[in-house]
Amino acid sequence: MGHISDTIRSLHARLPEGVGLVAVSKFHPVEALREAYGAGQRIFGESRVQELLEKAQQMPGDVRWHFIGHLQTNKARQLVGLAAMIESVDSERLLELIDRLSQERGVVTNVLMQVHVAAEETKFGFSPDELLGYFRNRRFENLRATHICGIMGMATNTDDTDRIRSDFRTIAQLRRQILDICPDLRGFDTVSMGMSDDFPIAIEEGSTLVRVGTAIFGHRQY
Ligand SMILES: *Cc1c(COP(=O)(O)O)cnc(C)c1O
Repeated sequence: MGHISDTIRSLHARLPEGVGLVAVSKFHPVEALREAYGAGQRIFGESRVQELLEKAQQMPGDVRWHFIGHLQTNKARQLVGLAAMIESVDSERLLELIDRLSQERGVVTNVLMQVHVAAEETKFGFSPDELLGYFRNRRFENLRATHICGIMGMATNTDDTDRIRSDFRTIAQLRRQILDICPDLRGFDTVSMGMSDDFPIAIEEGSTLVRVGTAIFGHRQY
C-alpha cells in the first residue's frame, strides 16, 4: 500500500479517543482521496466549493465533507445540504445566510465559528471579543436550521512553539468561556485546531478535530 493509506492508518492509531481527523484533500486528485478512503478515512476537508462539488460526485456517498475555506456568500447555496460541516463561518452575515438556505432546503447545517487569534492580518474569522459578544447577546437564538457545533481556529504560522501553544490555548479557552456565558448551549463540543505541522500541540491543548493535509497527501500543486 502507498504512503497515503499508511499515513491514514498510523494517524487513526495515534490520535487519542475523542479526536477526529479531517483529511484536507484540497488541490489533490480524487485518486488520492480514494486511497485515503480505502484506508478507512471518511471525513475530507476542502476549501473551494467547486472542487468539493466535483469530488463529491466522484466519491462514495458516505464521505463527510467539511468545508474549511473562506465561503463567499454567492457560493453558500451549493454547499448547504451537501457539506456535513461548514467549519469556516467567519461572519454573522454568512451564518444568517446559511440558516436561511438551510430552512429553504429543509436541512440542518452543522457549522463551526472560525476565530482569529493568529498574528497574521490576512486570516478570516471572528475576533475572540466579537465571538463572546455574539454569545453574550444570545444572537444564536435567531437560528432555525443551523447547529453551531463549536469553534475552529489556526495558530500563528511560526516556528515558535510557545506562540503556537498559546494560540491553541486561547482557542480552547474561548470555547469554555462561551459555555460559561451560555451554559444551556447544546452540542457545542468541537474545537477544530491543528494542522500537519502543529496538530500534536493542538491535541495537548484540547483539540477535538485536527485538519491534516500535507502530512497525508504531500505538498499541494497550486
Ligand atoms: C489547508 C488547510 C489545512 C491543512 O494544512 P496542512 O498544513 O496541509 O496540514 C488545515 N486547515 C485549513 C483551514 C486549511 O486551509
